[in-house]
Amino acid sequence: METPDISIEFFPPKTPEGADKLRTARQRLAELQPKYFSVTFGAGGSTQQGTLSTVKEIQSEGHVGAPHLSCVGATRESIRAILNEFKSHDIRRLVALRGDLPSGYGGAGELRYASDLVEFIRAETGDRFHIEVAAYPEMHPQARSPQDDLQAFARKVQAGANAAITQYFYNPDAYFAFVDNTRKLGVDVPIVPGIMPITNTTQLMRFSDMCGAEIPRWIRLKLASFGDDSASIKAFGLDVVTGLCERLIAGGAPGLHFYSMNQAGPTTAICQRLQGH
Ligand code: FAD
Repeated sequence: METPDISIEFFPPKTPEGADKLRTARQRLAELQPKYFSVTFGAGGSTQQGTLSTVKEIQSEGHVGAPHLSCVGATRESIRAILNEFKSHDIRRLVALRGDLPSGYGGAGELRYASDLVEFIRAETGDRFHIEVAAYPEMHPQARSPQDDLQAFARKVQAGANAAITQYFYNPDAYFAFVDNTRKLGVDVPIVPGIMPITNTTQLMRFSDMCGAEIPRWIRLKLASFGDDSASIKAFGLDVVTGLCERLIAGGAPGLHFYSMNQAGPTTAICQRLQGH
């Protein structure tokens, strides 16, 4: 099957061992020739330097690096300083987000929504950056309604986003319906599905509860039936996620963005299957 462009997401490693492991994983993942590697940005200051140093390393290896940037808890001045740093390191694309505050952590900051951040980045830096924003086919958990969330998404594009990456999901119809609905609102930027490989049941359930991604009942039941049998979980996960990617590609998805969790194996296995290896 002809695979569209792929991109791959990392989080900044917290230890020197983690950084070494990520370098090894990145070497393997580079063989898939991704369009870019993106690196998440922790709210509350925890990993902001880690994001930049990981992106710098990616760029120094000859790949395109895209830092994520969140505005929650930030001032305009602090965002301006980060954008200047990005510019000085020849960074040309970024993923603009609101972010989430850890509970009990200070105020919201000067820019309330991701649309405000996109507007600010465009006002400060013109067309310098290719900007991706987040999209939620199954609705962002804090949105009042799917229609409100769709309008919020459209605002981010009107503010100047070039493209979007979705939260992960396992029901392709949610993605296709979301894309159709955005087109009806006149939004025509590429909306790239975010793909979360399935390798660990506990971790998947925890993440999905946090971010509002739905795990279909049949997948949950099947995973539960495997207990701790990690080989069966991985084999099943590979079948399910490859099947999902095939349906997305056949339905016209403009790319695939992999949440790699800093591991090469699961993303590589899915892409190899898609290419018929
Ligand atoms: P927004 O688009 O601002 O939306 C947030 C909420 O506000 C939604 O419910 C929306 O409907 C609502 N809303 C928006 N505008 C308005 C308005 N004008 N009036 C009323 N309501 C409005 N988090 C990180 O901390 N670091 C990361 O690196 C990171 N990377 C991510 C990458 C991807 C691809 C995705 C999908 C998510 C990522 N996240 C990251 C998580 C993200 O920060 C959270 O989901 C966060 O809660 C929302 O961010 P957003 O940019 O989608 O916010």
